[in-house]
Amino acid sequence: MNIKRLVKKEVSALKAYNAKEVPCRIKLDANESPYGFSGALQAAGGIRTNRYPDPEAKVLKKVIAGELHIKPESILQGNGSDELIYYLVAAFGGPVIYPVPTFSMYGIISQALGEKKTAAPLDNEFDLDTDMMLSVIKKERPKLVFLSSPNNPTGNCFSSEKILKIIEASQGLVVVDEAYQPFSSEKGFLPLLKDYKNLVIMRTLSKIGLAALRLGFLIADAEIIEEVNKVRLPFNVNALSQAVAIAALKEKKQLKYFIKKIASERERMYQEMGRIPGIRPFPSEANFILFRVENPDSIYASLLKKGILVRNLKDAVRGCLRVTVGTPEDNSAFLKALEGISSKR
Ligand code: PMP
Repeated sequence: MNIKRLVKKEVSALKAYNAKEVPCRIKLDANESPYGFSGALQAAGGIRTNRYPDPEAKVLKKVIAGELHIKPESILQGNGSDELIYYLVAAFGGPVIYPVPTFSMYGIISQALGEKKTAAPLDNEFDLDTDMMLSVIKKERPKLVFLSSPNNPTGNCFSSEKILKIIEASQGLVVVDEAYQPFSSEKGFLPLLKDYKNLVIMRTLSKIGLAALRLGFLIADAEIIEEVNKVRLPFNVNALSQAVAIAALKEKKQLKYFIKKIASERERMYQEMGRIPGIRPFPSEANFILFRVENPDSIYASLLKKGILVRNLKDAVRGCLRVTVGTPEDNSAFLKALEGISSKR
């Protein structure tokens, strides 16, 4: 695969903005203020807020690389993975293909950037319809295919064989968005990166307790990373986020515990929801459960009346709401409310 030919020619001709850090005694190169606010310094845990952040997020990337057993050159940092979707579409352009229902930003960003997009419906099990996907790929010759696995909002992982077929049939890049991978029992696609040059993996820290930081990562062949890096804004990940993420990722025991707890609560919720008449939960490998009800608007409103906010997804998936797995107390309150509401019908 020739990445230079796949990327937009305007992007291929670009050189990345040079904001490399040069070690020095007196720093007078970046039009920063020499003065930082003392209150801000304290609030920011000693980070000098008058200085620009490390544009390359070197330390953070090293930590992530160590965690995932990959090279830092294979990683691109984003202000959330939303930003990385934007960068991918800006760098490679359309046509863009994705199944539906799925995460809405693939379509929104493609449209915002004026690129052609095609949505291919999932099958009845919410898995990829390979025939449909392959025929759309053959017809459209997409530069980018986005596959969220586990998929938001359905919660399932797509079958690996089907994803592989799509990677093998694509002349462009296939982005496997693994935002919810930590909650899944499947291995994910990182081990396959070495076999498929057109495979790009996307991860985020948002779902594992660090949503406030806005941090996402692309993991791909270094040549792909180099091209996407040309459209990255120089200081896209701020210094506070970098520092807090580095600290949080050291708390490995806690992180593991939280993920395990969420996965076990998800199973409890799934079982209990399945016992409530009129509620059909779908199995999930993520930190949420999609469920079908007879009257989504009224169930949504009744839950909210009791102070419980879920997502009404009836426009994306017929009759469906989506609940995020919370603390055991939150989940019990949700289950109790849902049971109460459905027994009144
Ligand atoms: N991908 C998927 C599948 C998601 O569900 C989300 C968040 N809803 C994102 C990406 C965006 O995550 P981030 O917070 O990293 O921008």
